[in-house]
Amino acid sequence: MECQNLAEKAYGLLFPNSQANYTFVVTYSGRLKDYGAYVSMKGPLLEFKMSRSWFPISPEIQMGLMQELLLKLFKKKSASMYVDLYNSFVKNLHIAVPKDKVDPELQECFDRVNERYFLGLVEMPNLVWGKFATTTFGSYDFKCDKITISSVFKEVEDTVYLEYIMFHEMLHKQRKFFKSGARTYYHDKKFKRLEKVFEDGPQIEKDLTRVVARVKAKAAYRDRAVKKQECVKKLKSTRDRLFGWL
Ligand SMILES: [Zn+2]
Repeated sequence: MECQNLAEKAYGLLFPNSQANYTFVVTYSGRLKDYGAYVSMKGPLLEFKMSRSWFPISPEIQMGLMQELLLKLFKKKSASMYVDLYNSFVKNLHIAVPKDKVDPELQECFDRVNERYFLGLVEMPNLVWGKFATTTFGSYDFKCDKITISSVFKEVEDTVYLEYIMFHEMLHKQRKFFKSGARTYYHDKKFKRLEKVFEDGPQIEKDLTRVVARVKAKAAYRDRAVKKQECVKKLKSTRDRLFGWL
């Protein structure tokens, strides 16, 4: 089936009573991350941009993704077999994703947390360091089966904080997500209850802001020192050049 028709069909099945006066466009791009996609609307043009990795996936699942995007775009709630198919596809994507980005330090942390809290039952995802982020400490990407941890934690000596963040993200991997109507819940009640299993969790949560603020301040100080050094170097080289001429 041609992909523009796929989008039109997805729309028609989702909103059977509405007259779709839209022009549907679907493009597959190598620039979007794996299994990423979004929809945009400009006047009568409804354009779906999908990651190239969607191209070989069955039309039913692609239609589910399109419908999920449409429901978000139009802020509508509706049950659909295709959206269910799409969600179970995403929940199982981790099985097929290659695990080729595993940082050794993060792997050690993952193994410790896995043994201690999950009886070693969590399958290893991709594990990478992210940016030096001081507000988002970690994230789990279902589509890439990847846990990203802020580089801030490279500089926190006490590894319990890194373990705490890892534990939270591993819970996401383990629990996946829970749908009710059009909403997706990631931190539902059960998640919050499970989160409390981590030893001294509430205290760690309290201390986290302070610990991260300290690392941030240190990094800012270091940056200033580096800049100062660069400045001195530049001055020296200008002076040497000047004296060379004289
Ligand atoms: Zn979370």
